[in-house]
Amino acid sequence: MTYTTRIAPSPTGDFHIGTARTAYFNWLAARASGGRFILRIDDTDLARNNDASIAVIHDCLDWLGLVPDAVYRQSDRLDLYRGIADDLIHRGLAVTADNGGVLLKGGCSAPWNDIISGHAVPGDVHHDLASGQVLIKADGMPVYHFASVVDDIDMGVNLVIRGMDHHTNTYRHAGLYKALDATLPDFAHLGLITMNKKKLSKRDAAASLLGYRDGGTDPDAMLNFLLRMGWGPRQDDKSMALIDRDRAVDLFLSAGKMKSSPAAMDLDKLASFNRKYISRKRG
Ligand code: GLU
Repeated sequence: MTYTTRIAPSPTGDFHIGTARTAYFNWLAARASGGRFILRIDDTDLARNNDASIAVIHDCLDWLGLVPDAVYRQSDRLDLYRGIADDLIHRGLAVTADNGGVLLKGGCSAPWNDIISGHAVPGDVHHDLASGQVLIKADGMPVYHFASVVDDIDMGVNLVIRGMDHHTNTYRHAGLYKALDATLPDFAHLGLITMNKKKLSKRDAAASLLGYRDGGTDPDAMLNFLLRMGWGPRQDDKSMALIDRDRAVDLFLSAGKMKSSPAAMDLDKLASFNRKYISRKRG
């Protein structure tokens, strides 16, 4: 299977270490399968976006050496979302609301596949989320769910690797794929990154990728660290202590697995990887 993958960060501040992990895993799945890795900037929340945050996204990917094959910005694609919403209206599947926004008319969720945890079957609560969902807001901007699904279809994305925090959203998205008569991609929901048994929040200093770069972390040590938070080799032994990027491409799909259990972040481990990489590069 050749995978087209993407990351879709919102340019609203710092680049979270969880986003870096998502970027690496999507990059690896694309490279390992001879596919494509797309960077899509989810910048439809005009009030919260700023160019400095977009520059941070590029800086972080450059630092890690994860070069996308294509870059898109959702704010350049507003006509596409509007056109697809209009099509749904014409087909009787969506309606214009009193406030000028567009809503799905009824609808329901659909089953989807997670390559980590298998077949997901929606329950009533998921059908309720998917049914009647807003597609375009009163201000004319698409909601995240709609723009994301329209783009993933348009860009041929067939594997979406993202954090477990999006698990519930996927039931909504499955309903949109169905309304749009499109084939669902595969999904992989990674366990959230935790520190001291708590979810690592955006506000934690340890969450900021640039903090590591500026603190002298070696980017290859960071990649190695990211890899081991949410992926493990089937046979874990000494030879797996350090896995460089090229080797990770070889192993990622064929010799190991992504995980949906929470990933504890151990900064001592990062420091130890860092010492090893730095001494190797000096030597
Ligand atoms: N903009 C969303 C986020 O940053 C994208 C999530 C996704 O669909 O991968 O969480």
